[in-house]
Amino acid sequence: MAAPTGKPSAGTSISVRGLGLSFDGQAVLSEIDLEVPAGTTLALLGPSGCGKSTLLKLLAGLQKPGAGSIRFGTELVADARTCVAPERRGLGMVFQDYALWPHMTVDGNVGFPLEMAGVARPERERRVAAALARVGLEHVGKRRISALSGGQQQRVALARAIVAEPRILLFDEPLSNLDRDLRVSLCREIGDLLAQLGTTAVYVTHDREEAQTLAHQVVTLKQGRVVHASHRSGSQYNETF
Ligand code: ADP
Ligand code: MG
Repeated sequence: MAAPTGKPSAGTSISVRGLGLSFDGQAVLSEIDLEVPAGTTLALLGPSGCGKSTLLKLLAGLQKPGAGSIRFGTELVADARTCVAPERRGLGMVFQDYALWPHMTVDGNVGFPLEMAGVARPERERRVAAALARVGLEHVGKRRISALSGGQQQRVALARAIVAEPRILLFDEPLSNLDRDLRVSLCREIGDLLAQLGTTAVYVTHDREEAQTLAHQVVTLKQGRVVHASHRSGSQYNETF
């Protein structure tokens, strides 16, 4: 990962061409084409098992494609021969189960990516505080994760995902474990945060309402293929596929 600079993060476009992957001869993703302009959010919708998480793993570099390519801006990050390591892709990720270290403090969790990148403590503390402020958690830095509610834990995970100012954020059903009211409000907040940061994002959900709350385009997968795509235009979505 490039050393974080403290400047606001700027997103980069994502371009996916002919992406495919099979496990044991069984196609999990086929001929996926996606264009995510810099600073915009694409929501991936679809039933359980349709390949959403696998597509995120390919974007993250946790899985190699069997066919096709992925570019971030002009940089080729993955094809049949190339696979840039996840930590060199400038990514932040947020998962359904938060994936926090329960025994550590909030500050310890959020600062971890900066510690790994060798950022010195005073700078780390400043940036952790700024990231926590961005997600509305100013006063919990010294608390342990296990003492927080689910909604607060997901805010911590969000702060950890943005603290190193990634160019791309990947979300895998981040709100699925929360109750409905919290889902609606946090979804709006995530949309606002993405707009403020200008980060490019791919947001996996099985909830259409959630997708339409924050995404500039919504792509639906079924059995590993794109079956529907629409772009937001004002308050409406126009079909593009
Ligand atoms: P979703 O996130 O949409 O629920 P996934 O991407 O997790 O779907 O899974 C898509 C399909 O790929 C499923 O049928 C799943 O069983 C299969 N799959 C995912 N990862 C592996 C793997 N490592 N080995 C074999 N099959 C896998
Ligand atoms: Mg999944």
